[in-house]
Amino acid sequence: MLPKKQYYANCAATIIKNLEKRNMKGVYFDTGREAAEYALGLVRAGDKVSYGGTMSMEELGMKEALAARDDITLYARTPDMTYIEADEKVYSKAFSCDWYFMSTNGITMDGELFNIDGWGNRTAALIYGPKNVVIVCGMNKVAPNLQACIDRVRNTASPANCVRLEKNTPCSKTGRCSECLSPDTICSQFVYTRHSAIPGRIQVVLAGEELGY
Ligand code: SF4
Repeated sequence: MLPKKQYYANCAATIIKNLEKRNMKGVYFDTGREAAEYALGLVRAGDKVSYGGTMSMEELGMKEALAARDDITLYARTPDMTYIEADEKVYSKAFSCDWYFMSTNGITMDGELFNIDGWGNRTAALIYGPKNVVIVCGMNKVAPNLQACIDRVRNTASPANCVRLEKNTPCSKTGRCSECLSPDTICSQFVYTRHSAIPGRIQVVLAGEELGY
């Protein structure tokens, strides 16, 4: 095994052990493709499914794979939907789904999750509602501790997402967070997940490569 892959596998073993202490499940795959196959294989015929905004899933083709299934009910936002329409047709439906897919903006070696959200639909579903939450996460999202994780999210993930979403925020130009209160900010909610009240409801599928921001 390549040294970097071995390093990822070692980190993942530590994270999975610590997720278990927090009532969350963790699994690790060497590649994103294997991780996606596993995650998609969890969905059974008749299930209701939704997902939050995630580049990781997009890079792995998971959204298309879910859309191609005619044996499930999928609630997914389409480009023509306004936020209000998405709220009615997708975001509010996510709470009663069997499966909610997302990535995480960051994860610590201790198994804590850290996410930011503008509208709040993704972090709301992470906290409460869907029966199962499946988080597909590349090892680039791992940070040694919570402060490093927050710094990574604010100075790497959020500025990159602001560029992707064409947001008029300071970080989309400077590449670093300046604690803005811009109307375009994607940082309305900072959600730190340290434990799942329902054992195993949150499952983190780690992949030994870089995915998303
Ligand atoms: S608070 Fe503003 S500047 Fe900081 S990362 Fe979020 S959108 Fe960018």
